[in-house]
Amino acid sequence: MNAAHESEKIGMKVVIIGGGAGGFSAATVARATGADVTLIERTDMLGGIALVAGVAMLNGMHSAIAEERALGGAVIYDLFDSIIVRRDLPVPGLGDKASFYNVSRLDAAMQRELRRRQIEFMLGRRAVNVDASGSRVEAVVLEDGTRVKGDAFIDATGSTDSPSSCHKWGWGCVECILRCPAFGPTGGIVEKMTQTYAVTDDDGRPGKIGASVLIAKESLSAELQNEIRAKGFAVIPVPQDAEPDLERASRMPANRPGSGGHVLAGQVFKENLIITDIGAFVKIIGVASPLYAGSLRKFHGLEDATIVQPAAGARGHLVSLVTMAPRDNTMKVDGFPNLFCAGVKAGPGFSIGDAVVTGDLAGYNAARCSRGQDFLELPKNLMAGAYIDLLRRNLKAAHEITHIHEIKVLQELGVYRVGDEVVKEVQRTGLPGVFKARQVS
Ligand SMILES: Cc1cc2nc3c(=O)[nH]c(=O)nc-3n(C[C@H](O)[C@H](O)[C@H](O)COP(=O)(O)OP(=O)(O)OC[C@H]3O[C@@H](n4cnc5c(N)ncnc54)[C@H](O)[C@@H]3O)c2cc1C
Repeated sequence: MNAAHESEKIGMKVVIIGGGAGGFSAATVARATGADVTLIERTDMLGGIALVAGVAMLNGMHSAIAEERALGGAVIYDLFDSIIVRRDLPVPGLGDKASFYNVSRLDAAMQRELRRRQIEFMLGRRAVNVDASGSRVEAVVLEDGTRVKGDAFIDATGSTDSPSSCHKWGWGCVECILRCPAFGPTGGIVEKMTQTYAVTDDDGRPGKIGASVLIAKESLSAELQNEIRAKGFAVIPVPQDAEPDLERASRMPANRPGSGGHVLAGQVFKENLIITDIGAFVKIIGVASPLYAGSLRKFHGLEDATIVQPAAGARGHLVSLVTMAPRDNTMKVDGFPNLFCAGVKAGPGFSIGDAVVTGDLAGYNAARCSRGQDFLELPKNLMAGAYIDLLRRNLKAAHEITHIHEIKVLQELGVYRVGDEVVKEVQRTGLPGVFKARQVS
């Protein structure tokens, strides 16, 4: 754990709250372009929800991340490459090139990368308030009273105010990876300063409930373990006597109205459990995961299965998408000159790729803000530019959740490209490498 730290430094200092994929991406870009960066994380690990995610690449993510790399960002995907467990697998429903990283090595890899880049990070420190002068944020106040001053701030605290949202809108605390009983409630500074937005379901209930559970590999049958060792994944048909939990499934992110095209709501996921190797655990993906989480032991090979994440995963998952920030396409929060947002705080885009494209841009513009420079809005002919604008429009639409790996969404925006065309388009915009080009005032 890093030593306690109080920054008194004025000038070119970016302070980021939240060490998930969004905050990490923002930190790497802000630092690469020349800012001093401090990242504050309330738990003892970096990664946030990505510590239980595991799917690095699927469907349209290949194109979106190739574009982000051409812009000079997507550093977390380089880390995924270094801890990959399975690459380019043809997994039903996820496309013919799905890749999975080892979730149990992510935190260490992220910490190493931040140290290598000389990015200061504070673990086990929870932001609880802000000091502001009018609409200008001056410092983040931590639980122990420490004030971390800066010139520009990024709220990348996710979009849950757990455990209260889990008690109000879910099935209580299910002991997810955010570990609120140990590290205190989540929640950012944006919601302390302005109105935030929530996705609602058909009954008007705020928030969406996480899908997918992680299972101890050793609790699978020997036959299933062998299959997963050989292939990297397994497809297990739903048995006739399994009892679906329709209420829970209706609240997972993929079940938004009009989500028929979304990969994780596809028929293959309703008729089968798709189990993938993510290192120390296996992950059950998609709608069948919440649908049958309470009756997994009826499935062939899962007779002894033990859910390890969330600890009470048979009951439910965390409630998210309840505290999204109003913001413009530069990632600046409306009404505040030096406050930005990233990740799922920045709109109803629910994947690591979403956190990366919003985080990279937030880091870039917060660094520019700290130097008194104007902000970049990505052109809408780029996938990231069009998609960030879509998320902003969907913020107040209440129902729409997207994922940047949905090819259909990118096609509807008229920006989906593959292969060399991805990099060529970035070159046409004049922005190749922009997220890693060192800048001066
Ligand atoms: C169960 C589940 C499985 C998923 N699987 C996948 C997958 O396989 N692939 C994929 O691409 N996407 C997946 N997603 C979506 C994706 O993981 C998330 O959308 C993305 O990781 C969110 O990143 P984030 O940085 O915005 O937020 P988070 O990951 O929530 O990170 C926010 C961080 O902020 C910290 N924080 C909160 N409040 C404070 C505070 N007051 N002070 C300091 N720190 C604070 C939290 O502790 C946390 O570390 C999954 C989502 C869920 C729920």
